[in-house]
Amino acid sequence: MTAKILIVEDESKIADLLRLWLEQASYTCVTATSGLEALQMFYYARPSLVILDIALPQMDGWKVCERIREMSDVPIMMLTAKTDEADKVRGLGMGADDYVTKPFSFPELVARVQALLRRASRPATGELNGKVQIYQQADLWLDTTNHQATLHGKELKLTRTEFKLLAFLVQHAGQLLSHNQILEAVWGPTYRDELDSLRMYIRNLRRKLEEDHGDHHYIETEHGIGYRFVKTS
Ligand code: CA
Repeated sequence: MTAKILIVEDESKIADLLRLWLEQASYTCVTATSGLEALQMFYYARPSLVILDIALPQMDGWKVCERIREMSDVPIMMLTAKTDEADKVRGLGMGADDYVTKPFSFPELVARVQALLRRASRPATGELNGKVQIYQQADLWLDTTNHQATLHGKELKLTRTEFKLLAFLVQHAGQLLSHNQILEAVWGPTYRDELDSLRMYIRNLRRKLEEDHGDHHYIETEHGIGYRFVKTS
């Protein structure tokens, strides 16, 4: 069975091309040209992924994203002409999984759709809830019950907060996480503006991770936006 994709785009030229490219990659497509129609199609068609334009008639893409998130964790890819980084952060904060700026390359978009669907089909790795969970990204092991991290078979000495930060990054390996998302998850909602302390923690974490193996970079910086833990599959 092929995955069904909902395309929400009021510019018919772009919508048609998207459909063409995605169908060629053997996905099934349904389309909507307004925010309200998008929600109707979402209920009706139950897509596996949503490509969502931001500037839409009736209800904009942000609102649609919010509504969809109230009922589903389906992967959402935002599509927009805006290049403002604040918008990118907003999109990720509001529950979008990826963000593509127009004009975009269709093959690249298809590749990103494939990546999002692959990520969504994997079982959730769970939250930091004290159960025995060991995450492995290459040579890095985390035991969230005992708060222990091992790198190349050696114990990694981390503070409690460093551990929490690392676990959150590893759980979302491959995903770009905004500063706010990280601050909220690791420190709590009242720490949203503590960008300097986040930077400091990231710096310390990198130093500890990359001490003996400086050639391998675990954490990528997306300037003005956030961080991504490199996925090693
Ligand atoms: Ca539009």
